[in-house]
Order: sequence, then structure tokens, then C-alpha cells
Amino acid sequence: MFNLQVKFIKMLFRAVCRKRGIPLFIALFFVSSLQFYCYAGERPTVTLEVIRAIDHRLPTLSDEDMKQILDEAKRIIYIKLGDKIEIDFHDNGTISLPNLFKNYQYQSSKFYKDLKDWKYNLNNPPDLDKDKKYIIDFLKQWELDSLKDFFPDRQIRSYDDFYKILTITYHKKIKWLKSLKTYNGANLIIQPPVSFQSYVEWLSLMWYQDKYDIIFTNTLIVYDLFSEPYPHTICKHAKAGGSSCSSPKRKPLDGRSLVVNIFEEYGNIEGIKPATDVPKATKNKILGGFYFAHEFGHAFYYIPDVYDHSNACLMNSSLSNMEGLKGYNAIISNLSMCQKCQPWIIAKEYVICAQNAYRKKDYARSGNMYIQAVSKTPKIIDGDYNGYVIGLYEKALDAYTKAKDKNNIRRCKGLIKNQK
Ligand SMILES: [Zn+2]
Ligand SMILES: [Zn+2]
Repeated sequence: MFNLQVKFIKMLFRAVCRKRGIPLFIALFFVSSLQFYCYAGERPTVTLEVIRAIDHRLPTLSDEDMKQILDEAKRIIYIKLGDKIEIDFHDNGTISLPNLFKNYQYQSSKFYKDLKDWKYNLNNPPDLDKDKKYIIDFLKQWELDSLKDFFPDRQIRSYDDFYKILTITYHKKIKWLKSLKTYNGANLIIQPPVSFQSYVEWLSLMWYQDKYDIIFTNTLIVYDLFSEPYPHTICKHAKAGGSSCSSPKRKPLDGRSLVVNIFEEYGNIEGIKPATDVPKATKNKILGGFYFAHEFGHAFYYIPDVYDHSNACLMNSSLSNMEGLKGYNAIISNLSMCQKCQPWIIAKEYVICAQNAYRKKDYARSGNMYIQAVSKTPKIIDGDYNGYVIGLYEKALDAYTKAKDKNNIRRCKGLIKNQK
């Protein structure tokens, strides 16, 4: 039925264009853009597996809280990032953090073995200067001017200046985190350190596990990946408020997953809890519509943290947007999509079209859409650009192989080789 409609539209365009003397290539442009929107309009359903991983020493979420968070997340994602997909959440209840981490032998993976060299040892702080060049390269993804706001009372003339202030701040924040106590006086950071309070361990667990797309947790996760000191993370609490992770075994988010940390809103820890106490329903809106929806923007749309978009932008991570209630109010103050985020959203829409076409066994078009998705994808994404692009080319190759399109198979192989 669908193909018939497309054929009919093509015929109609050809007839109209010939009659009016419009060149065929313009007609084809119209037809191809129309097909793009035909497929984009199909809204595939993405079902996401959700679980709560609990530190029993700290306040946590009820089933009702969970529902409120997920409902608000969905609402804000549709408004801010578009509704090209239907999101469906499947709540798997709760698991204790020690059990979650015991279930997976992730420390035997190469991923973990490589990553652990970048782990900040809480009881023996690393000498960051050894990796100064690497860290400065990481910081260069942002304009120096957009970084200056993190230290408004300091003179920052170069990335080197910024690096120095940032690393001093990092060490101070870790020391401070170690001094915090739970409501009954126990150390908030368990000693000796446990895996579930380390960001590096979480990243490795998420990379290895095969069951969940979104994990909510209520514990303090120290941001201990010192090779990537996100300025907004370090300047706030040096803890992970949430993260989009790589989970190659999980298909719904195309090999990605999310960790959402409710510790700041729910933990009730002096120095970390929000300045303004708000009702639980509001906390849940902040967690769903601000923290979770933001992480979803990273995981699904590959939008990086940005510091120069408007305050109503879901992906804006500048310091003025970092307080939960303030940030949430800012994003709902203007319920339209951020124009500066559009390039990432459009690029992802091409991927959705490619997947839709593939499902319809329209393999040649699927391959073309994947190739177009690459050309639309901004060079800076949340994650590894090269790896992402190679993944798209591989999907295009698979589609062209199914279409038995020898020329494009050869072309795709060349593109993959060049990108590696
Ligand atoms: Zn972010
Ligand atoms: Zn934006």
C-alpha cells in the first residue's frame, strides 16, 4: 500500500513537472524529501527497560514516584527533542546495588581494563599533570569564552589557565565529598571504596550488562574519570548526576543506556541537597523532565553538553542551568525546541528513517538514508564520532548488501576503511 502511494506521488510529480517545464532533478528532490517525511512520520515504538538500583542507606523512589518521573520525562522529551519515536517504559522494579554489581563480571572486560587507568583513586589522588595534554585536548571541545563563566572571579587567558583552576577544584571537591556523612553520621563514601560509588565502575558495568536501558540509582557516584573532567560536573559536586553510557548489548537505544541519579534531589545531604525544598511531585518532575530528559538527549540524539545555547535548551549545561529547580523552570519557560540543537535532531531523524525503510525491506533507500545521516551528523557529538559514523556506514553496508547494490557496497566499504 505504502509503495503504491509513493509510486503514485512520483508519477504525479513527474507529470506536473514535465508540464511546467521543471527539470527532473528538482522533481526528484521534491520526491526524495517527501519520502523522507513519509518514513519519518511512522513513529516506531522504542521500549525501554527500567530498574531502580538501591543503596539501602539512602532515601529512594516508590513505584508511584517512578511513574511520575517517567511520565514527565516522556512529556519533555517529546516537546524538546521531537516525537519521531514513541517511547514506552517497562518498569522492572528494584535491585540492591551490591547485587546489581555482583551480577556482572565486567571487570574482566577489556573495556574496564583500559578505563581503570583513568580512575581517580580516592585514597591516593593522581598527579593529573602527567595527563595534562590529554585533558587540555578534552577541554578544547568548548570555546574558551564559554568556559570562563565557571570561574567568573579568575583571570583565564588560556586553556592552560583553565586546566590549572579546574584540576585544583577537582582535588578539593573529592576531598570535600569524602568528608560528607549520611543522616546517621556514617561516611557517605563507603570505605574502602565500593564499585557502585565510582563512575568508572558504572561505565564499565553499563558497557557489559545486557538487561537495562535506564537505571535509576539513589547513591552518591563519585565522578572519578579524571581524563574527562567535564567543567560543569567538577565545578558542581564532582559527582555523576546521570550519564549516557555505551551498552553494545542493548538494542533499543542503539547500543546506549542511561544512568539517572536521584541522590541530589532525594539524598537530603547538607551541601548537596537543593537550596529550596520542594514537594515530592516537583522533585519527580525535575528528575524526569530535567535530568533524565537531558541524558536521553545525549543517549538517543547524541547532543553533547553545550554551554552556549539558550537557558530553555534541555542540553544547556552552563552553571546557571545546573540547579535542578531553576534548570527545570528554565526549560519549561519556553516550550519550543532549541534551534541550536536541531542539527543533531535532524541527523538522528535520518537514522530513524533509515531504520523504518529497513523494516519495510526498502533496503536501497535505507542505505541512502544512513549515508545522508552521516553527512548531517555534526562533528562534535556526545560520544565517539568516528565510532558512531563507522556504525552508520556498517548499517548502510548491510542495507546495500540486502539490496544487492554492488556499487554502493564497494563505496561503503571504502568509506568505512577511510574512517578507521
Ligand atoms: Zn549532560
Ligand atoms: Zn540547544
